[in-house]
Amino acid sequence: MAIVPYDQRDGFIWLNGQLVPWSDARVHVLTHGLHYASAVFEGMRAYDGEIFKLTEHNQRLHESAKILDFEIPYSVAELDKAARDLLRANKLTGSDVHPYLRPIAWRGSEQMGVSAQMTKVNVAIAAWDWGSYFDPAARLKGLRLTFAQYRRPDPRTAPTKSKAAGLYMICTLEKHRAERAGYNDALMLDWRGQIAEATGANIFFVKDGVLHTPLPDCFLNGITRQTVIGLAKQRGLKVIERAIMPEELSEFSECFITGTAAEVTSVSEIGPYKFALGDITRTLMDDYTALVHPAKVRAAAAG
Ligand code: PMP
Repeated sequence: MAIVPYDQRDGFIWLNGQLVPWSDARVHVLTHGLHYASAVFEGMRAYDGEIFKLTEHNQRLHESAKILDFEIPYSVAELDKAARDLLRANKLTGSDVHPYLRPIAWRGSEQMGVSAQMTKVNVAIAAWDWGSYFDPAARLKGLRLTFAQYRRPDPRTAPTKSKAAGLYMICTLEKHRAERAGYNDALMLDWRGQIAEATGANIFFVKDGVLHTPLPDCFLNGITRQTVIGLAKQRGLKVIERAIMPEELSEFSECFITGTAAEVTSVSEIGPYKFALGDITRTLMDDYTALVHPAKVRAAAAG
């Protein structure tokens, strides 16, 4: 199947306040964000025409930019409206599509060099139909993870609370290494050697009916992570956020990852450790699907 490159698709992209034809949303090679990673982004999904946690994502975009010392020149409310307008313009409001939205903000071309005080901040939002983040067959069987070599950095060495483009350099390297070795993804430890997360999703484990997940003190406290913790508590499940060492992996019976793109996806292997797709993972996958699909749930309730 021929893959249409991401710069040659149909539809519109919201760019600096306007909907422009998809292939016109271009940047110059001398863009500060490209050279020095002065860029922050978001990933959101829409279900049945509604963008899940839209305002939370746009608030995080603002926060990420602030951490990188720049201001987004559009309010959260303006970005919310832009995302909704874009979804409609690209005809992604139906229940037959699985849309993903990618807001991004970056410093422009007005200045080159490490200093970027005079650059203009640009903002764009793209939206497209993006099925499963992982191969659907792997998703059903559970993902196979390998151990990453790079570690999530110490908050004293990088702005780890920002969803900053630069923090993804090591994620891409580790994802490639994992894929080349026949795995779906990599488990990253943090700078202390504690379990942190996958290359684009948070991680949870189950032991004796209790959920355990690493404390997000040097990586993103994902919106999906927070949502799933809420769903688990509604089910009366206990959730323990704590430092988890890799030596403990043999004690866990189930494992899954959470993220906007990945949603809730079970993990069957991490290196030599094996996990079953058990009741708790299944329940939380179903609860997440029900929560994000308001129309589907309403239709089912109506019989
Ligand atoms: N960690 C990383 C590195 C990610 O890229 C993501 C996806 N944004 C997450 C965690 C999960 O975040 P969220 O649930 O907010 O999408």
